[in-house]
Amino acid sequence: MANFNTHLNGAFAVSGIAALTIYKTGLIDDSGFLMCVALGTIGGLLPDLDSDNSTPIKLGFNLASFMFAFGLVMHWRDELSLLALMALWLAGYGFMRYVVFYIFTTMTVHRGVIHSVPYMAILGLGLTCLSYFVMDNALTTSWFYGLFLFGGALVHLSLDELYSVNLSGMKMKRSSGTAMKFYQHRDKWWYLLLYAVLALLVYFAPPFEPFWEQVHDPAPWAQLRVGMLPNILEDYFR
Ligand SMILES: [Zn+2]
Repeated sequence: MANFNTHLNGAFAVSGIAALTIYKTGLIDDSGFLMCVALGTIGGLLPDLDSDNSTPIKLGFNLASFMFAFGLVMHWRDELSLLALMALWLAGYGFMRYVVFYIFTTMTVHRGVIHSVPYMAILGLGLTCLSYFVMDNALTTSWFYGLFLFGGALVHLSLDELYSVNLSGMKMKRSSGTAMKFYQHRDKWWYLLLYAVLALLVYFAPPFEPFWEQVHDPAPWAQLRVGMLPNILEDYFR
């Protein structure tokens, strides 16, 4: 298993490069870019959320709770009074920090359940729904948020998979093949629940087709090509 620092750096590097590329195409704006990097990095830490002793996870959860509460307040800032906003902020923070965190840590007994692809897909898709339906973000932005969270988690699982290969002897360790998990018979009821929730989310998710069309549109990628090289090289190759 890769350690915390490897996960942090790996997820940050991958989501940083990916987000910068997408930002250069103009598909996301400034704040979207920052959020994508942050979400990708958080995603890279999520699968190890089970370690009850890990301070970084608690810190991460604190941060996520702050961000969630902040997002709520920003969303309703025009409609609500100052007092109501303060109450909303506290309630949002408390909900994330205590209720959601409690549910997460309760499930930690089943490490295999959290450290799996379907669980991370639920979190990613859940975030897309939250961003689109609750936070009123644009469709493209919402899909990118979910994908970055999920992508970061996949980086984490891949790193664990890589590190479980014993490089010196090129022999597979016993843990190999368990990191990138889709199903485990021992936890079959948990997995049944996970796939049921995932199916529900897929059903209620915002439309994927328009997002995909926008990403497929050649125009943004042509834009990327223009800004690919420093000006001096650009002139040279012309
Ligand atoms: Zn892990």
